[in-house]
Amino acid sequence: MTALATVGGAALGDKLRALGAFDAETCMSCGICTATCPLGIDVLPRQLLRHAALGLEQRIRDEQEVVFSCLLCRACEQSCPAGVHIAQDIRLLRRWLLEQGGE
Ligand code: SF4
Ligand code: SF4
Repeated sequence: MTALATVGGAALGDKLRALGAFDAETCMSCGICTATCPLGIDVLPRQLLRHAALGLEQRIRDEQEVVFSCLLCRACEQSCPAGVHIAQDIRLLRRWLLEQGGE
């Protein structure tokens, strides 16, 4: 992770943790969740969590349709080896986007 990404990630991570228990930083980016997501969208959830953990706010804004497409079914969480609370993280991203008037 680059220094810039760390700074950006800390900034967005702090904003999301102010809204609730955000834990995307524990993601190992293994991709197992993406393989099990019934929506079959490449960005969900591995890339989305990666972008959030890196603090890529504009990428998250660009991906807001994907953020709001998630079914919150938690199927992905069943296979996550890191125990990431994926649906909760996506809920927090929705709240963050809504607070910005993003949707
Ligand atoms: S909670 Fe969202 S990201 Fe996870 S499997 Fe369900 S639709 Fe996919
Ligand atoms: S399965 Fe868990 S650790 Fe692997 S990419 Fe998905 S959220 Fe990250």
